[in-house]
Amino acid sequence: PETVKNICCVGAGYVGGPTAAVIAFQNPSIQVSVVDLDEARIRKWNSRHLPVHEPGLIEVVRVSRDGTKATEIALGNENEKVFLPSREPNLRFSTNVSECVAAADVVFVSVNTPTKSSGIGAGAATNLVALESAMTSVAQAAKPGAIIVEKSTVPCGTARTIREILTLYRPGVPFEILSNPEFLAEGTAIKDLLYPDRILIGSSQTPAGLAAAAALKEVYATWVNPSKIVTVNLWSSELAKLVANAMLAQRISSINTISAICDQTGADIDEVSKAIGLDQRLGSKFLKAGLGFGGSCFKKDILSLVYLARSLHLSEVGDYWMSVLSINEFQRDRFVNKVVSKLNGALVGKKIAILGYTFKQDTNDTRESPAIEVIKTLLAERPAEIAIFDPGCSPTEVRREINRNVSSDAIPLKPQGPVEAYSNSYDACFESSAVLILTPWDQFRCPALAQKDSAFRKSNDQNLENPQAFLKPVLSEMDIVTLAEYQRAKSTSHIMTVTSDPLSRLFDQAECTLDCVY
Ligand code: NAD
Repeated sequence: PETVKNICCVGAGYVGGPTAAVIAFQNPSIQVSVVDLDEARIRKWNSRHLPVHEPGLIEVVRVSRDGTKATEIALGNENEKVFLPSREPNLRFSTNVSECVAAADVVFVSVNTPTKSSGIGAGAATNLVALESAMTSVAQAAKPGAIIVEKSTVPCGTARTIREILTLYRPGVPFEILSNPEFLAEGTAIKDLLYPDRILIGSSQTPAGLAAAAALKEVYATWVNPSKIVTVNLWSSELAKLVANAMLAQRISSINTISAICDQTGADIDEVSKAIGLDQRLGSKFLKAGLGFGGSCFKKDILSLVYLARSLHLSEVGDYWMSVLSINEFQRDRFVNKVVSKLNGALVGKKIAILGYTFKQDTNDTRESPAIEVIKTLLAERPAEIAIFDPGCSPTEVRREINRNVSSDAIPLKPQGPVEAYSNSYDACFESSAVLILTPWDQFRCPALAQKDSAFRKSNDQNLENPQAFLKPVLSEMDIVTLAEYQRAKSTSHIMTVTSDPLSRLFDQAECTLDCVY
């Protein structure tokens, strides 16, 4: 790119870190810095153990942060290796916000924008405190003519607030504000950033606004086909991000309502999903019924949309989107009720194993994970133990999150309470009355590991062609693998070959391939 030589990204989180890393990776001639107030987070970005776990991220960071000799690497997609000539480092992580901002031609603002928890609009409106404080630092340090880019997801109209902050601190100094929302999904962030469906850039339609949009377009055009870089007006861009998330979540809630009907009619939700997904007008993605969506974005972005609609006196519109959230809760409650009723309505004295605590697979992010609400509800039934294992989160992280999220009169963690976190699924599942797979990590979804293991097969005289049959992903079938069910399976299928302690035996076999990423 001609015009952009230096980029600073404010906010080194799940979006800022990976996005800045990929921009640096694809633009060796641009100096990229990522800044954050959180010293511990920056220290991790500068170490070998990054604070964000994403397939391919460490490779991208290493190349740009540390520089490299000529090499070939696979990024996100094993089949597509990229040849890299030798290069100097051009990515750095720092806590020195003002110095890095002052050097930048383009400043991305990628700070957290959660839902307000108190005051006007509590529980619905977006909390812009971090954005405001970041913008205050940016306004004071940015060089005249710098392009300020909203990367955070923000309510429609936020660019106006940013303009006001800039004018307050630097009256008369020219700055352009762009909206460039991020559409990456956690777990596939690097793949999404390298091969985006589209890049959206919103700008004011003045000559200066359009020139700023063109400069940002150049940065992306080094690896994204220009036909995929869409330029629109500022408000369309801000709103489109909220709508994209709302529509994705809406599909999940829609299919989940149908799973409740399937449950009582003999229709099979996976067959229904497949049948409708083949319609090209619908497409097959986001049609998997399950526990419902979690994560830091869908709920807060729908709430933001609802708040916007209601403040525009469009109550029917607000109610429509609100129902996406209420169905999400309905589905989760339905699941927990089913678990409890399969265990004869009594959890006292029983151990429940929970496999998966992150909100989705291939991430270490537990924000708004459905597991949290499931655990809260189960706790009220006073089980002997709730045993948690997640391949993306260490037991220490799980315990910290439980303490933070599960507020009750008593401390839920052992030794006072029943909750314990384990470092492997074998121990978590050992002697449990039910195993709930709440995150579809591959190793839970597909214990074909046991299938592949010929020694395991030989030790069982009957065949184990299809071990998945009894460990079907809970998420897709609203099913749970209880020992009671397993006993039933014993008399009707070849899975009966597994020993008297079937689950622990299976996971014992699986243990060797459980690859912890923390
Ligand atoms: P995050 O909480 O992981 O990261 C935000 C970072 O900003 C934190 O490290 C925080 O310390 C830092 N920060 C806050 N105030 C600051 C300040 N004044 N100066 C410097 N640093 C500051 O959040 P995230 O998941 O990366 O999300 C960031 C934004 O991107 C949000 O608006 C979110 O809605 C949006 N988004 C998230 C995703 C996702 O999958 N997580 C996807 C698309 C968009």
